[in-house]
Amino acid sequence: MTDIAIVGGGLAGLINAILLARKGVSVVLFEKKNYPFHRVCGEYISNEVVPFLKQNGLYPDHLAVAQINKFLLTSTNGRHSDLDLDLGGFGISRYELDHFLFQKAIDSGVDCRTGISVENVEFSENHFNIQLKSETVQSKLVIGAFGKRSKLDKKLNRSFIQRKSPYLAVKYHIKTDFPDDTIALHNFKGGYCGMSKVENDTYNLCYLSASSVLKESGNIPEMEEQILHKNPFLKSIFKNSKFVFDVPLVINEISFENKLPVENHILMSGDSAGMIVPLCGNGMAMAIHSAKILSETIINHWSNGEFDREKLESEYVKMWNKLFYFRLWSGRKIQALFGSTTASNLAVNLARIKPVANSLLGLTHGKEF
Ligand SMILES: Cc1cc2nc3c(=O)[nH]c(=O)nc-3n(C[C@H](O)[C@H](O)[C@H](O)COP(=O)(O)OP(=O)(O)OC[C@H]3O[C@@H](n4cnc5c(N)ncnc54)[C@H](O)[C@@H]3O)c2cc1C
Repeated sequence: MTDIAIVGGGLAGLINAILLARKGVSVVLFEKKNYPFHRVCGEYISNEVVPFLKQNGLYPDHLAVAQINKFLLTSTNGRHSDLDLDLGGFGISRYELDHFLFQKAIDSGVDCRTGISVENVEFSENHFNIQLKSETVQSKLVIGAFGKRSKLDKKLNRSFIQRKSPYLAVKYHIKTDFPDDTIALHNFKGGYCGMSKVENDTYNLCYLSASSVLKESGNIPEMEEQILHKNPFLKSIFKNSKFVFDVPLVINEISFENKLPVENHILMSGDSAGMIVPLCGNGMAMAIHSAKILSETIINHWSNGEFDREKLESEYVKMWNKLFYFRLWSGRKIQALFGSTTASNLAVNLARIKPVANSLLGLTHGKEF
C-alpha cells in the first residue's frame, strides 16, 4: 500500500509529488506520456509563483527564462492598447519546465511511472484501487492531477464531462520579431491568440477558438486565413514568422465549467479541480498554488501514515474555494469581452484606463505566494 498515488504529471502533479516526497511520504506518480513533451499552453507564468519556486529550489533560472512585464491587447479589427504589468511573469516552454520538475521529482524520491495511463480509480474500504492496464495498485490517498480533460473524468461521471465543450486550442512555436518583455493578446472572431517569448529565441503562439468557427471554415489553415488574419496584427505574425513545428498541436473539447475539488474522495489539484480561462495567463500559477495548499493540508493532517479523511477533505475544499472560486468565475465573465468586434474594442478601451485594467487583472490574479 503506497501512501499517496498521483494521477497526472503536469505542474500540479509534479509539485504535489515533490513537496510530499520531501516530507518523507511514499509517493507514486503516474503520467501517461514520456518526458519531455510539448503541451498546448501559452507558456506565460505569472510571477506570483516566483517566491514559492525559489524557496523550494524549483525555479528554472538556468534556462534563462524570459521576463515579461508589458501587455499588448488588440481587437478583432486591429485597434490596440499597451499596458505595463505590475507583477508580470516569465516565459518558458512546458517541454523544458515539466521536464525540469520531473527530474526534481526523481531527485526528491518520487516513484515516477511514465508512459503509464491510469484506467480507473475506485475507493473502497478506506483505500484506493488504482487500475492500470496490467495491474492494480493500492494507496491511502489519491491526488487527481489529470488536467482539463481525462478518461478518468468519464469514469468518475463528473458533471462537466456530460456536456459538449465549445472550444478548441492550437499552439505553435515560432521565430519572429517581437519584444522579449511583452505578452500580446490578439482577438479574432470567436477567440483570441496569445504570443510571448519562451527560451531559445522562440515565441509561443497559442490560440483558443470557438469550435463553431472551425466548423464554418472547414480546417485550421482555412480558419487562420479567413478569420484570424482579419486582425492585421495576426496576419502579419502568420505571414512574417518562421514556424518551428511541422504541424500545430491541437486540443478539443476544452471546458471552463465548475468542477469539484474533491470527488469520490480523490483530492483534485490543478485543472482537474477547476480551469481558469486561458486569457488570464494564470492557469499554471493556480496549478502550482493548488498543489502547494493540497500538499501542505495533507502534511498537516498526516501522522505516521494515519489521518482523518473527512477533516482533510473538508479543509482542502474550504481553502480551494477561498483561493480560487471567485478567480475562475471572474475569468469566465471577462472572457465574454473577447472574440467579437464590439466587445474586443470595448476591452481595448477599458485597457487604456490603467485603474480599470488593473482591477480587471486583480480579479483573476492572486498575490505572490
Ligand atoms: C489554450 C491554452 C492556453 C493556456 N495558456 C496559459 C498561459 O499562458 N499561462 C498559464 O499560466 N496557463 C495557461 N493555460 C492553462 C495551463 O495550461 C493549465 O492550467 C495547466 O497546464 C494546468 O496544469 P495541470 O498540472 O493541472 O494539468 P496538465 O498540465 O494538463 O497535466 C495533466 C497531466 O495528466 C496526464 N494524464 C491525464 N489523464 C491521465 C491518466 N488517466 N493517467 C495518467 N496520466 C494522465 C496528462 O498526460 C498530463 O500530463 C492555458 C491553457 C490553454 C488551454
